[in-house]
Amino acid sequence: MPKAIVVEKAGAPSVMKWRDIEIGRPAKGEVTLRARAIGVNFIDIYQRSGLYPMPMPFTPGGEICGEIEAVGAGVTNFKIGDRVATGTAGAGCYSEILNIDSGKLVKVPREIADDTAAAMMLQGMTVQFLIRQVYKVSKNDVILVHAAAGGVGLILCQWAKALGATVIGTVGSPGKARLAKAHGCDYPIIYSRENFVDRVRKITKGAMVPVVYDSIGKGTFPASLDCLQHRGLFVTFGNASGPIPPFDPSILAQKGSLMMTRPTLFHFADTPENMRRMAGDVMKMIKSGDVKIEVNHKYSLREAARAHRDLAARKTTGSIILEP
Ligand code: NDP
Repeated sequence: MPKAIVVEKAGAPSVMKWRDIEIGRPAKGEVTLRARAIGVNFIDIYQRSGLYPMPMPFTPGGEICGEIEAVGAGVTNFKIGDRVATGTAGAGCYSEILNIDSGKLVKVPREIADDTAAAMMLQGMTVQFLIRQVYKVSKNDVILVHAAAGGVGLILCQWAKALGATVIGTVGSPGKARLAKAHGCDYPIIYSRENFVDRVRKITKGAMVPVVYDSIGKGTFPASLDCLQHRGLFVTFGNASGPIPPFDPSILAQKGSLMMTRPTLFHFADTPENMRRMAGDVMKMIKSGDVKIEVNHKYSLREAARAHRDLAARKTTGSIILEP
């Protein structure tokens, strides 16, 4: 019998149970996917812990690379045996096998390995919308990115560097600083030891930055706003340290007529066409060698709880994979 991680009640990592599951035939528009590698993302923690409420019971995981084992009615663009990946499943991917809407899948080219494919979709497409759509990073920009040695962070640093930008990044340790530097982060700042606003002021000689990419939330707010130029853009796209508490919007006026957005991947990859275009961009960056997906941690699927503990404890760098 196939198995999956199942959560019946939101809570600590231990709520993730390794259970037998039954998979029926794929419905219209769906395919049955046999997992080859599964991506772990911070959003999985938000869903498991209850910060982002989920219908219960549920199987976490929005990102997977697998092989198609069965094809439902009406599916014309995929066939049995195709190697495919998704980063927009939403949930359900911590499973040895699953049925999934074929509109969420892209074919994986031969030169991209299973681990890379599983790790590149959600984080890669996130970077795509952050630096190609929300704010178009260009070669004259100096940008600030928090958690620069994380999964999203390492991809963002490399991609922005390839665009010619100067990248300032915050990280939690000297080891992470070295890793970020090796992946395009020109100025790593160890924000646990240094005041990152002062460092940004020094690095930019007082000019500050036009955009801050902030996935930390509570822990870096409102200091992130102090790193921006007048009319700069605050992109708050995650809450690794907890959500930003409610605040008076006039703070944006006081700090320089700032703009703010709280984007999410699902509103950019909102149609199969948009998703494929974004995934295509990611694959182009990987094939060119400009972006390397660093899968620095692998766990067996049944050990998903350990992966969550390590990610939440800031013990990981780059991307994390579960092996079925
Ligand atoms: P990361 O690999 O970046 O892990 C999170 C990192 O955040 C940690 O390694 C740590 O790095 C830093 N951090 C700072 N404070 C804390 C804290 N209190 N607890 C835990 N971590 C902390 O994760 P991902 O690459 O999976 O995701 C990065 C962020 O991007 C997440 O916030 C996620 O929610 C967001 N995201 C948003 C999307 C969207 O559509 N809006 C889509 C995808 C991701 P350090 O030690 O260096 O500080």
